[in-house]
Amino acid sequence: MSEFQFTHGIEPEFEQARDEIVKSVTESTVFEKNPDLKRCLPVIVEPERVIQFRVTWEDDKGNTRVNKGYRVQFNSAIGPYKGGLRFHPSVNLSILKFLGFEQIFKNALTGLPIGGGKGGSDFDPHDKSDNEIRRFCQAFMTELHRHIGADIDVPAGDIGVGGREIGFLYGAYKRLQQKRDFGVLTGKDTRYGLNGSFIRPEATGYGLIYFVLNMLTYMGKDIKGKYCAVSGSGNVAQFAAKKLIDLGAIVMSLSDSRGALIVKDAAKPFTHADIDFIAELKVRKGSLEEIKDDRFTWLPGQRPWKNLPKVDIALPCATQNENDADDVEALVKVGCFLIAEGSNMGSTDAAVQKMEALRIAYNESVKAGKPAGQFWYAPGKASNAGGVAVSALEMAQNSQRMTWAPERVDTELNNIMTNIFNESVDNSATYTREALGANVKKSADKADAAVSALPSLV
Ligand code: GLU
Repeated sequence: MSEFQFTHGIEPEFEQARDEIVKSVTESTVFEKNPDLKRCLPVIVEPERVIQFRVTWEDDKGNTRVNKGYRVQFNSAIGPYKGGLRFHPSVNLSILKFLGFEQIFKNALTGLPIGGGKGGSDFDPHDKSDNEIRRFCQAFMTELHRHIGADIDVPAGDIGVGGREIGFLYGAYKRLQQKRDFGVLTGKDTRYGLNGSFIRPEATGYGLIYFVLNMLTYMGKDIKGKYCAVSGSGNVAQFAAKKLIDLGAIVMSLSDSRGALIVKDAAKPFTHADIDFIAELKVRKGSLEEIKDDRFTWLPGQRPWKNLPKVDIALPCATQNENDADDVEALVKVGCFLIAEGSNMGSTDAAVQKMEALRIAYNESVKAGKPAGQFWYAPGKASNAGGVAVSALEMAQNSQRMTWAPERVDTELNNIMTNIFNESVDNSATYTREALGANVKKSADKADAAVSALPSLV
């Protein structure tokens, strides 16, 4: 990495995301095979434009309140800037630059013509009334509207911004611009006549599981009966969990910022009804700790990773850096062979190093003729691209002035996730020094036999 002089110690989250890409590219054969691309690296790590603005709004008591608003227009090489808006007190420029940077690669992987961007505010919707959220969204759009457009920059939701907020934002945009221009925002609710796309709310969670299914098929494994640790309880976690349940997997955990909710007995795991209940709870801004059900244990202040006696698959679906090296170690100890991120940069740098070492160690064990410790990791850039992919399909539908049937969107989503998986495996074969090779594929799977012999978890 030494040949590139990038800043350090200013924006930790952005520097982490940037360094991860720089490291993986410089350690691969990309520059050997494409020397011209070296010129692009210092260009792509700088946002094309960062817009920062004041958001002034009035709370229910008539007080004037002020928040910071941002839009990071990171890269438009292959299409309009595309990426969500995050409303959360932790939002700052480092976080939005990291998210916007990741979005460039994720969006390109979808194969659809969308550039990378991200925006948001340090506004905390959690302790605000519906009217305060509406007034905040309107005030936010008062500035943002002049910087976006269906062919310029197309924001969507992210943490703290769902279909309702997109509706408030779209209404404000329409009034300010005096035009309908449906394609200016995605994640629009299909119920309000705003030309939203079916399957958009489900897309990130479903897409994650479609990606995991590809990984499992490649490994010669099946999803049925696998013990799955899921973190988070928002949109991504809810629909990932529902898809897992539909496919016969066993959902063992969910979590929120206050702690983790763990299944006591694997014979009584999370059900669709539990997830529906949690979805309602989240709409009224409740916490999982309110759930009083003796099938579950509530672990205040904890994540699920170190608290389950058996995990096959772990899916971080909450927020950045929620999976650290010691979490990986603990998960592997209880049998985990696959970690795939529904969140953006869900794993710390140390966790990524650990997981990569595990993959290489497995390849070595196969080469030595004694396969042991199979392990595979999917970074969010690939595995959570389903959300933005369906956003791009929403843009296509808006341009056509059509609404596609849910089945069609779901099929397209599934195909896109399979293409991303195949593209990733092909590029690994072309550019990675320690490629996946044939080693992972359909290798002897001793772990599976052990799992099927397990009694139900207590
Ligand atoms: N916020 C989502 C993501 O992290 C979706 C962005 C979009 O739909 O534009 O990819």
